Formats: sequence, C-alpha cells, structure tokens
Amino acid sequence: MQVADALGRHPLSRYRRYMSTEPFEEVSGARHSTFGPVEIDVGTVGEARVKRLIYPPGMRWSSDIKPLVGTEQCEHAHAGFLVEGALRFEFDDGCTLDYVAPAVVEVAPGHDACVVGDDRAVLIEVDFATDTVARLGVPDAHRHD
Ligand SMILES: [Zn+2]
Repeated sequence: MQVADALGRHPLSRYRRYMSTEPFEEVSGARHSTFGPVEIDVGTVGEARVKRLIYPPGMRWSSDIKPLVGTEQCEHAHAGFLVEGALRFEFDDGCTLDYVAPAVVEVAPGHDACVVGDDRAVLIEVDFATDTVARLGVPDAHRHD
C-alpha cells in the first residue's frame, strides 16, 4: 500500500510528536493495539467488547483510516461515552452529529468522522464486533423517518 504523500512523508508522521510524548499506561484487563493513528484498548465483558479509543487531534477517518479498511465510509455503529475532546460525524446527505465531552454517543454506520479542535478525543465504546447493530438494537443506517 502506498501511504507516503507527494513529499515522501508518511501520513502518520504528523502524529508522532503526540504519540511519543504521551506514553500509554497499561489498562488492566485490556489488550492494547493501534490502528493507524488510533490507540485502542479492548477488553471483554460477557459477550460484549469494551474499548477505549484515543483519536489524536487532526485525525479524519477518510484520510487516516479509510486507506486501511478499504470501505467508502466507516461502517461501524458507535455506541458509547465521549470522555475527552470533540468528535464530528458526517453523513452522505450532509447531516452532521457533533459531540463534545462529556457526551453519550450513538452513531449509525455509514459516515465519515473527524476530531474537532486541538485536543485528542477519547471514546469509551461498547460493541459486539460484526453484530453490534443487532445486539445493541441501534439503527443500521442514518435516515429520516
Ligand atoms: Zn440526514
């Protein structure tokens, strides 16, 4: 996969300062990973997954995550609690959802998303892997009824 820009910079390099100055404490009971610029701690509770997602300032799904997953939009439902920062979710029809911590978050699949402002965003999320929409009983798409 070609991930460097025209100047040969790796697109994640702009996050390096943030990532190197902010060591991540170990989360008891969770497994740590990274996905692009996102720091993820995942644990399991019963059949659910509980996650802490840390998004760096400047992150946008369509720029930073889309190349890694290959779908046109983020196809995950998001259900959780934004504890730090601000997130914006954007749908195809022009609707946007803005969340500023502290806030309960519920977002249907099929969206772009970005971190708003100069601070990281920290989202605590619950999901059921590929079965999240059915198991949580949340909408499977953004629509106007
Ligand atoms: Zn709409």
